[in-house]
Amino acid sequence: MAAHKYQAPRGTFDVLPDAARLRGRIERTAAEILARAGYERIATPSFEDTELFERGVGHSTDIVRKEMFTFEDKGGRSLTLRPEGTAPICRAYVEHGMQALAQPVKLAYAGPFFRHERPQAGRYRQFHQLGAEAIGSDSPLADAELIGLLAEILAELGVPGVELRLGSLGSFEARQAYLAELKEHLRAHEGELSKEVRERIDANPLRAFDSDDDGTRAVMATAPKLVERLEGEDAEHFAEVRALLDAAGVSYVIDPTLVRGLDYYTRTIFSFVCDRLGAQSEIGGGGRYDGLVEQLGGKPTPAVGWAAGIERIMLALDEEQAAPGRDVFVAVAEESAQRRSLALVLAGELRKAGLSAEVDLGGRGLKGQLKHADRLGARRVLILDAEGAQLRDMSSGEQRSVETGNLIEEMTGGEA
Ligand code: AMP
Repeated sequence: MAAHKYQAPRGTFDVLPDAARLRGRIERTAAEILARAGYERIATPSFEDTELFERGVGHSTDIVRKEMFTFEDKGGRSLTLRPEGTAPICRAYVEHGMQALAQPVKLAYAGPFFRHERPQAGRYRQFHQLGAEAIGSDSPLADAELIGLLAEILAELGVPGVELRLGSLGSFEARQAYLAELKEHLRAHEGELSKEVRERIDANPLRAFDSDDDGTRAVMATAPKLVERLEGEDAEHFAEVRALLDAAGVSYVIDPTLVRGLDYYTRTIFSFVCDRLGAQSEIGGGGRYDGLVEQLGGKPTPAVGWAAGIERIMLALDEEQAAPGRDVFVAVAEESAQRRSLALVLAGELRKAGLSAEVDLGGRGLKGQLKHADRLGARRVLILDAEGAQLRDMSSGEQRSVETGNLIEEMTGGEA
C-alpha cells in the first residue's frame, strides 16, 4: 500500500459527504427544536485567552491541567483552542452587556471543540458539540426546559438506548461542609486510593467518583453522597426540577455518584448516556452554573446549560443518510460547445426554480452521461440534441420532446 505523506492529525478526522449528510440532519434538528423554544444562535471564536478557561473551567480539572491546546501568538499572549463552550458564552454575555436584556438570555451553539485527550472510538482531539444555555434564571423551570429539549432532540433523531442521569451538587456555599466530610472519608482510606485521586484530595475530591480504579471505586461506594446531604433551598430546587421532569414525562434516574469534569457546576447536573456506545457512553450533559458569570467578572447571574457530542450521536445512530438524488440531469447528445453552454444555462434556470439540477463536468459521451445521471439518482434527464430537447423519465425509460423555452413549466407541471 502506498504510504500517505499527509494525514489528518492524530485524533482528528475529515468529514466526508456520506457522514456530512447525517451530521447536517443532527445540526438542523437541534437548531430547529431549540429555535422553536427561543434559543437563538450564538457563535464565539475558536480560540480565547487561556486565562478564560483557567478561571472558568477550573485549574484543578483534567481539561485545564492536561487537555488544552495552548499556544503563544506572535504578540506573546497565551491563547487556547476552546475546549468547551460555556465559559466563552459567559464571557460574551458579560462583554456585550447582555445582562441588560430581558432575562434569561437563551442561546444555542454548534461547532468544533478541542481537547488533547487519548483518541479512541467516540473521543477525539477535535470534536463537535451542540449546546444550549439559559443565562439569568435560577428557576427550576429553566433546568427542566433545557433537559427536556435535549431529550426531545435525541428522541426526534431516533437515538436508541438513552438514559438520563440526574444529580445535584447543591450551591457552592452549601457544598463546602459536604466536601470537608468527603475529604475526611478519602483521607481515612488514603492507602486504598489511586495515586491520582490521592494527590487531588484537596484540589478536587469530587472527581474520585469518576475514577475507574478498583480500589478507589470500593472506597467511593461507602463515601457520603452529596444528593443525600442537600438542605433548604438546594433540596427544594432539586425536588422541583424532578417534579417538573415527572410532569413533562421525561424519565430519569437519580445518580448520587454523578460528577462532571468542570468546576463551575452548582445544583442540578445531568448526563445522557447511551448503551450503544462503548467506554465513552455519554452523549451529552450539563447542569447549572450559578457562579460562573460572576467568576468571569459579571454580576451574580444564575444560569444552566448543556452540550452534546455530535460524533457520539452519530455513533449511536450508526446510519448513513441516503444521498439526496437529483430532480434533473441536463445531458448533451452530440458534443458541441454551444450545447454544453446551453446545458449549463438551463441547469441554472432549473435551480433558480427550486429544482436540483446538474450537468456533466467530466466530458462524457451521452451513454456515459446517462450512466452518471443514474448514479446520481437523477429522476429525469433532459437531453439536448440537434432537434432540440428530449425529457427522459429514468424510472420508466419513457422519453418525449420538450420545448426548452418553457422548460420550468414542463418540469414542475407534473408528468415527465
Ligand atoms: P463536556 O463538555 O465535557 O460536558 O462534554 C459534553 C459532551 O461532549 C460529551 O457528552 C460528549 O458527547 C462530547 N465530548 C466531550 N469530549 C469529547 C471528545 N474528546 N471527543 C468527542 N466528544 C466529546
